[in-house]
Amino acid sequence: MHLRTVLHRRFRTETGHEFVYVASSAAILGLDPLASSIVDAFAEPAGRDAEAWLADHPERADAETALHDLTDLGVIRPTDEAQAPRAQLPPMPFPISTLVLNVTNKCNLSCTYCYEYGDDRLTAGKGSEGTGKARMSDDTARQSIDFLLRNAGDRPQVSITFFGGETLLNFPAIRAAVLYAEERGAVHRKRVHYSLTTNATLLTDEVVDFLTTHRFGITVSIDGDASQQDRHRTFRGGSGSFATIAPRIQHLVAQNKAKKGRALGARVTLTAGAAPVRETYDFLTKELGFDEVGFAPVTAGLGRTYALGEQGYEKLLREFGELAEDYVAAAVSGQSHGFANLGDLLRELHQGINKAHPCGAGLGLLGVSTEGELGLCHRFVESKSHAVGDVTNGIDEGVRTAFLTKAHVDQKTDCTQCFARPLCAGGCYHEAHVRYGDATRANLHYCEWIRGFVDLGLSTYARILTQNPKFFARFESS
Ligand code: SF4
Ligand code: SF4
Repeated sequence: MHLRTVLHRRFRTETGHEFVYVASSAAILGLDPLASSIVDAFAEPAGRDAEAWLADHPERADAETALHDLTDLGVIRPTDEAQAPRAQLPPMPFPISTLVLNVTNKCNLSCTYCYEYGDDRLTAGKGSEGTGKARMSDDTARQSIDFLLRNAGDRPQVSITFFGGETLLNFPAIRAAVLYAEERGAVHRKRVHYSLTTNATLLTDEVVDFLTTHRFGITVSIDGDASQQDRHRTFRGGSGSFATIAPRIQHLVAQNKAKKGRALGARVTLTAGAAPVRETYDFLTKELGFDEVGFAPVTAGLGRTYALGEQGYEKLLREFGELAEDYVAAAVSGQSHGFANLGDLLRELHQGINKAHPCGAGLGLLGVSTEGELGLCHRFVESKSHAVGDVTNGIDEGVRTAFLTKAHVDQKTDCTQCFARPLCAGGCYHEAHVRYGDATRANLHYCEWIRGFVDLGLSTYARILTQNPKFFARFESS
């Protein structure tokens, strides 16, 4: 029988432990020297005759057992095996678990790279006023909660994320939504979790008290110290925002700690010329007190001076590698580390996540515009071409199913031979829409970056696994 190794990625630790990541199952398997030699021996696309190979092997019995084990585990398969049928969508209508409420179109900053108001804005907009109402009404916020609870199926827990513009410009709608969700959630016997992204300029004592009392997961968009923050994150007149937000963040950190709140996150937009990642991470965690920091490279804009070019990615990967060293050191001694990009990737690797779609947009997650229109996610609200219904009349299931069918990773021919497919699945729909004018296309402009980052995740995973496997227990409950 002709056998061959399936699509995979090999990796090893500096101490010589060998592993393989199997793309079809998203499994990570340790390889002893014999198994490692078999994975190599059958790696040619044409495969090879198993009987002939075994006949030549000096330790035939051991080799035969190892070959059977690898076949059972799906690492080696017959070359003439029929392709598995294309994966199907989960049973539809798929229950909603997260609703992202765009409570306002407005922002009090005018950051140069903002996708809401910059050149990559999706809506056909009127500048910073947006195409819809500037603010969501309290009624629409409450209707959104009813919509979520009606469409959550059997889920015991749902999440509401508040977004903008600058989210806190419409604090009244946030408060109305939360108070209503507490009441209705109890009736429906569902726990409701809240989260919010803010630029921190409007974190007054009253707002901080409300958010921390209701255990919000809070993410602050901030680019680093004053010199980093004020490069792009400016008020309309051009003045930087760091001096305004620093004391507000300090108050938030203190209140959140005092009330034993959820982890406080910073989200850094990485542009060309940004400070080294490790330096920014240290500043945000040690000086400002954030628990986690996520880095978002600006990738979509063609020809934008602030977008990271190819060399920018190489540099960024090196810098992520430096911060990964700190992550490994913490993990080996049983400590958490707040490098959110890497933590999220390690969680997905450990849980064996194998995505048919890159994210929950349109599936378990929908965005709501200020007027109550439903979009695939917060970035697609007010985009008529990606509307999937509204909170009053519900989801247009035909439109939703058609989109998800077309967006399935199996439809993305370029992704079929990519080992990173279980984690990437073609990448962000919004980015594909901006770059290619088609949200269902694969984001081929950043494949090298994604594969490089997955390689970093795999090697980090192996290093921690061989030194402190108990570290991963934290990823097993959620
Ligand atoms: S978009 Fe690129 S990196 Fe992502 S799965 Fe497809 S081929 Fe792989
Ligand atoms: S489409 Fe892009 S922006 Fe929207 S939820 Fe998915 S990854 Fe996020």
